[in-house]
Amino acid sequence: MPGFELFGDEEKKQVLDVLDTGVLFRYEFGDQRQGIYKVKEFEEKFAAYTGSGYAQAVSSGSAALKVALKALGIGPGDEVITQGFTFVATWEAIFEVGALPVFTEVDSTLNMDPEDLKKKISPKTRCIIPVHMLGSAARIDDIAKIGARAGIPVLEDAAQAAGCRINGKHLGTFGTCGTFSFDSVKTLTTGEGGMIITDDQTLWQDMSEYHDHGHDHIANPGGRGGEGRRFVGFNYRMMELQGAIGIAQLAKLDSMVNAQQAHKVRIKETARLIPGVTFRTQMDDSGDSASFFAFMLQDREQRIRVNKVLKENGAEAICFAENTWHYFPQWEHLLGGLSLTKGGWPFIDPANKKRVVFDPQSLPQSTALLERTLIYPISIKMAEEKMQSIENALKKAVSV
Ligand SMILES: *Cc1c(COP(=O)(O)O)cnc(C)c1O
Repeated sequence: MPGFELFGDEEKKQVLDVLDTGVLFRYEFGDQRQGIYKVKEFEEKFAAYTGSGYAQAVSSGSAALKVALKALGIGPGDEVITQGFTFVATWEAIFEVGALPVFTEVDSTLNMDPEDLKKKISPKTRCIIPVHMLGSAARIDDIAKIGARAGIPVLEDAAQAAGCRINGKHLGTFGTCGTFSFDSVKTLTTGEGGMIITDDQTLWQDMSEYHDHGHDHIANPGGRGGEGRRFVGFNYRMMELQGAIGIAQLAKLDSMVNAQQAHKVRIKETARLIPGVTFRTQMDDSGDSASFFAFMLQDREQRIRVNKVLKENGAEAICFAENTWHYFPQWEHLLGGLSLTKGGWPFIDPANKKRVVFDPQSLPQSTALLERTLIYPISIKMAEEKMQSIENALKKAVSV
């Protein structure tokens, strides 16, 4: 991460194509657009790249989650299972459709623990959202099987994992659908933007119409043309300028991943020297997007000692249990049931008035794991000095 390190002539040319026509909008204006449909082209290229049947571009990765949940028919009274280590958008989207999130533990993949998932499935579960956090895969084969056996769709939140594969198969293609984000810190960026991929044509049609105010896209699949409306929708459309940048960035994605992998391998080789260190379980090292490097110390105390030395040597690592906004016990607005809605919805259901309570102590396995885990973000362009400063700091941490 992130793709904005590589903005160049390719992105500029794509954007100018759009500005030259003056048509910034993905639909209509057929007479003026000189055959240029950048969002549509980006969708087709993204579907081909990931090997999925259909791709639907939207305005953000959060919108991608919401549009996918809507198309899957999820709403009030439903439970959606996700993991307690993710970006807040995953569960915000669940609330946005009126459903309630249920959180699983993460395991050594730092993603959804399939054993805990089995325990959390209830008669109300309508969807499972594993997240491929920090650019590396969840145990998605196992999770997809559990979903299939229970008849529950699996929506992969691959927001951070564009370009990541398991044995050549792209993340986002294991479940019923997969979502991506192209925000400012994601590997492929369009400034703001998102994408949903699926092999299910009906699901894609519903997403296409829902994200465009319910306009029917029947006469012209993936585009306007009809005059009817099959259901109520909303506006989550992507702009042509974003689609244009996406086309240029997608062409660079594999080289971005390769650069990150090379950096990650080097840092890992040095981190290996720390006594007792272990690494995040990878489903397929060769397909890893390598946007982050995670290593585990033996306990919280060793993690604190090691990170102190790293900090003193100018290369402090991130402990997601403490100083970020991606972990269940730190979501104070979730734990506090804080909502702008006067009646307290979605934390208070108007029908039964009982507030849903989330207990910060309820994921002890995740807490124990994240408290001994340290993480470095990996970028595409890492100066040799930066690499050496991390390597030198890690060598100093070997003896503490
Ligand atoms: C970034 C992110 C999102 C949301 O994407 P936006 O484009 O910022 O709305 C969703 N899920 C995860 C895991 C993310 O990291």
